[in-house]
Amino acid sequence: MNELVVATKNKGKLADFQTLFTDRYIVKSLYDYPEVPEIIEDGDTFHENAAKKAETLAAYLQKPVIADDSGLLIDALGGKPGVYSARYAGEPKNDQANIDKVLSELDGVPTQKRTARFFCVIALAEPGKETIFAEGACEGRITEKPTGSNGFGYDPIFFVPSHGQTMAELSAGTKNQLSHRARALTALKETIEGVWPK
Ligand code: IMP
Repeated sequence: MNELVVATKNKGKLADFQTLFTDRYIVKSLYDYPEVPEIIEDGDTFHENAAKKAETLAAYLQKPVIADDSGLLIDALGGKPGVYSARYAGEPKNDQANIDKVLSELDGVPTQKRTARFFCVIALAEPGKETIFAEGACEGRITEKPTGSNGFGYDPIFFVPSHGQTMAELSAGTKNQLSHRARALTALKETIEGVWPK
């Protein structure tokens, strides 16, 4: 079997990708390639960042590489924090500071105008081939205060109407069924069926 490298050191993400590809690839991660150069995510779009990571590493390793980029888009803030989600409140990356900043910017905005979505783009790059993209989104709204302790990032302030809870109150299993990343993975699977035969 050929190798496929997932451009992540996040064990949760790696497990998701392993499930999808394990029947046709030996799935590796950046733990298996500690020498790869660090890729600066300086693009203005999720697509640019995901493609830059996947294509740079695919060229370096001469193997197929998958990378993803995701973030939170809040309608009342014109789509912010968007691609800047990880470091919205500045360096160093701090989830609590990001949440505080979002809540203060939304101060006074009524519930029905606090709509938002998590968005994820996955890029699959292989030397000599055109990069394949897949997208996924998860709709919700921003709460007035944080609730729940599961997950990471903006999960405590992201309310999922279909479940009546924030992302941080959902179990990992439930989040993995409805998240933007899970939906992008499903889309990727559909896209590569046929293109990447077993
Ligand atoms: P990444 O591209 O997956 O590293 O995500 C970038 C940033 O978006 C993270 O640092 C979080 O702030 C936010 N984010 C992405 N996915 C999630 C999620 O599932 N829950 C909460 N925050 C997320």
